[in-house]
Amino acid sequence: MKKNYSKKGGNRHNTSLPGHQEGDVKAKKHLGQHFLTDESVAERIADTLSYKGYPHVLEIGPGMGVLTKYLLKKDTDLHVIEIDTESVAYLNEHYPALEGKVHEKDFLRYDIGEIFKQEQFAIIGNFPYNISTQIVFKMLELRDFIPEFSGMFQKEVAQRICEKEGNKTYGILSVLVQAFYEAEYLFTVPPSVFNPPPKVDSGVLKFIRKEDFSLPVDEKLFFRVVKTAFQQRRKTLRNSLKIFDLPENIKEDAIFGLRPEQLSTARFIELTQKIQPYAI
Ligand code: SAH
Repeated sequence: MKKNYSKKGGNRHNTSLPGHQEGDVKAKKHLGQHFLTDESVAERIADTLSYKGYPHVLEIGPGMGVLTKYLLKKDTDLHVIEIDTESVAYLNEHYPALEGKVHEKDFLRYDIGEIFKQEQFAIIGNFPYNISTQIVFKMLELRDFIPEFSGMFQKEVAQRICEKEGNKTYGILSVLVQAFYEAEYLFTVPPSVFNPPPKVDSGVLKFIRKEDFSLPVDEKLFFRVVKTAFQQRRKTLRNSLKIFDLPENIKEDAIFGLRPEQLSTARFIELTQKIQPYAI
């Protein structure tokens, strides 16, 4: 179900930036900071996780805590990771319940095992859009520990990840995410509910890890096949996968006459199975 939000909240305070109050964190562009100003959107994002089957939740990029506030009401052990010193100071001052659980780190570089050891956790956030795809790649690396993931991205990225084969925007992230997770696009959020407003619409999505998320193929090879195929997405697999140096008779298989966007996740697995005996 897709739903658009009408403009609400924001633009309430008549200071330098619309929605900006004395004492607020100043938005920094290089950190992808667009603060959500609509409480109902924050609450709705917080409600996208089930909070069942895992003891912890990690929020990435809490900023001034608009979403955090609603996450703290849930029955879970909440930790937040935030790169911006000024936001961390704000969180420590305004959310005493988070004591010891605000990690001033770069999510992309930090070893999350330091926080949760080997235990399961969900990830949630209104993510910094400049690194949103890298966040998803890191989540995929940590998939053994992450049964649920939800949050806000640029709409176009969110849609691309949930896209099915046969569509122009179907790509590497769609295949890789959908190999391990059920991905669902939930709803669209307009620029007007952020401060400062981003240039594009945003989209909220949710991933639920599959019951059996092991692949019947070499996983590294699967990633390599998918990435290599999409690097030249208009070519047939026969041509784009030349680098694997496959024997000619194998390439006569009809699957090699297809282009990557025509293959579902299951067929990419089948393709990897065919390549595996010849891959070094
Ligand atoms: N969740 C808040 C802020 C969203 S803006 C809200 O909805 O209002 C994105 C946030 O991610 C910012 O607070 C930014 O400082 C933080 N951020 C950016 N890069 C990060 C990184 N590598 N690791 C952790 N946090 C990061």
